[in-house]
Amino acid sequence: MPDVKEISQSTKLVGVIGHPLKHSYSPFMHNLAFTLTDLDYLYLPFDITSNNLKDALKGMVALGITGFNVTIPHKEKVIPFLNEVSEGASIVGAVNTIVNDNGILYGHNTDVHGIYETLKEYKKDLSGSVVSIFGAGGAARSVVFTLLRYFHVKKIHLINRTVERADVIKTYFSEKMLYNRIKTHSLYPPDLVKVLSKSKLIINASSIGMHPKEDDSPTKIAESFHANQLVFDIVYNPISTKFLRLAAREGATIINGLKMFVEQGAHSFELWTGKPMPTEEIYAALKSQLKEGL
Ligand code: NAP
Repeated sequence: MPDVKEISQSTKLVGVIGHPLKHSYSPFMHNLAFTLTDLDYLYLPFDITSNNLKDALKGMVALGITGFNVTIPHKEKVIPFLNEVSEGASIVGAVNTIVNDNGILYGHNTDVHGIYETLKEYKKDLSGSVVSIFGAGGAARSVVFTLLRYFHVKKIHLINRTVERADVIKTYFSEKMLYNRIKTHSLYPPDLVKVLSKSKLIINASSIGMHPKEDDSPTKIAESFHANQLVFDIVYNPISTKFLRLAAREGATIINGLKMFVEQGAHSFELWTGKPMPTEEIYAALKSQLKEGL
């Protein structure tokens, strides 16, 4: 018989809201963390359509739900319904964590923390560097903000299938952070080889290569990569993406998306409970849940 979580009179509820709610490892991560820390919390997924978003937040207050993670497509839309938004989330324009403090809803962006924690050991290499980023969704916005705010990069190449979305981000950061060194490109890997090979850091912040389309990669061209490069894929399912395998073959230092996932979760956990998440144990448990192929 599997262990049954005991629900008490004082069990606190947290969860994730999104639509359609694809399979997420957040319930596994947080429920395991609550068990390991002996905290009386439960984490559940809630599939909420955009039409019901406002009511869902009213319900959160009425029911005393402690916190939510927010995922696609609500990260931006949720902001007008919150009482306060952290400076980082406000500049990024996306909230992925809500804390309900006695009816006052606070919005945060813990993806920024996850990206920072993942890249901080390379800070010296990245200052003044050229970076290429694939993607122009919510994750790419958080990546751009983190690189500008904490890593002082010199130039960003922003590459996206729909180049207009990348242009919107370029204009946005030029206005919000007075940064005018983003160059946008559409996703034609043969034309991009020069741009990629001249980048110190290449990040996949798009969904390309995510399960179940594991044979996809933002570029499959070996000349995009070399040994003096960092290559980071924020996709964490699978842990070993095709993009990272190709980069590793050319000698690049590769960074998978699992640390970012655990660190963004740890920051949400701490915002809700005031306690640190046991990240080492969570990391190991997630690693064995997800196929480790490298
Ligand atoms: P999003 O807002 O939906 O954006 C998706 C991005 O991927 C867009 O740039 C989209 O291009 C691009 N894309 C999707 N399918 C594509 C395809 N077949 N060919 C080319 N481009 C494609 O999603 P998001 O929130 O930014 O998340 C992006 C990825 O980051 C997801 O895989 C998510 O799981 C991952 N993520 C990881 C963490 C972590 O903790 N490791 C945290 C957040 C997100 P268009 O603009 O042309 O549609």
